[in-house]
Amino acid sequence: MLLSGGTTEVVLEGETIRAWGADGRLAAEAAGRVTLAAVGERIRWSGSMLLGETLDAAGAPDLRVGNREVVGRVRLLARKGKLLAVAVVPLEAYVAAVLSRETPPRFQPEALAALAVAVRTYAVGAAAKPRDTAYDVVGGVEDQVFDGMDGVAPVFREAAARTLGLVIRYRGELARTVYHSTCGGRTEDAGSAWGKDIPYLRAQFCNDCADSPVYRWEHRMSETEGRRVAKALGVPPGKDLRIAVTGRTPTGRASRVRISSGGVSRELQAAKFRMTAGYAKVRSLKMEIVPVAGEWRFTGEGWGHGVGLCQFGANGMARRGAGFREILARYYPGTVISGETP
Ligand SMILES: [Zn+2]
Repeated sequence: MLLSGGTTEVVLEGETIRAWGADGRLAAEAAGRVTLAAVGERIRWSGSMLLGETLDAAGAPDLRVGNREVVGRVRLLARKGKLLAVAVVPLEAYVAAVLSRETPPRFQPEALAALAVAVRTYAVGAAAKPRDTAYDVVGGVEDQVFDGMDGVAPVFREAAARTLGLVIRYRGELARTVYHSTCGGRTEDAGSAWGKDIPYLRAQFCNDCADSPVYRWEHRMSETEGRRVAKALGVPPGKDLRIAVTGRTPTGRASRVRISSGGVSRELQAAKFRMTAGYAKVRSLKMEIVPVAGEWRFTGEGWGHGVGLCQFGANGMARRGAGFREILARYYPGTVISGETP
């Protein structure tokens, strides 16, 4: 898994840090902290020694890479002046760490178990189609957020352990187990959200997420903010700036948004509008936009794209006594849970 890749430097921390070159020989040692930098296709150790293109580093008792605790060795690669840090993280440790970032620890054990299976399935599927010759998945929003092993609460490790090796398949293939925070009453079709129909990612009614803190949300978009968004989307904002929903999917989510001002009008995908306005402000596309005195009042339901598993819905089901298999069957209908290798 790629820990970091866009920078020229990486800081390693550990009581003792050792690094081996491509020939397997010990290349360098340090105590406490060391900064590595990429110089073209070579790695510079602590501001002085110039080493080869790859290094395998380990720390005792553990190693921190850019402030994230990792288990096992980390491979560093210099590539065109950028330094890549790649960690080999055991699958179950990865599942627990991702869960800890994606879910509140107070969730019911069965909901956490359902999510552990979804997280694992995604990871195994992604690893089968590596993103690069040097790593399989990215430890960030591109795949699933991995923030290291620090503070991963026991409940998350238990959820991984309880579902050890289980993945979700559809007709024998690993399923695309997408999930989101709160659907707001009904999940979304993958076809409506992303233009690709996936049989097990079709809209489902969900009456279990009503206690989510974002079941209903509201956002006041100020005039300044509205102007910024319009500008970013190619409409020069004037006094007559208008923002309106012009199309909806069968589940009632906005699919098209029109921005117009001074004779310029642009209709675009609602998802693009949401991204530009900010995911934490316009929390979902299950929304209405009402102009109020030069500003816009957004009211909506749920948080996230709404496709696949609704996390708060899973928690609500678990509270009603449902097991993780039942939860997964509801949000990924027609799929089968099996061991990692069929
Ligand atoms: Zn829901």
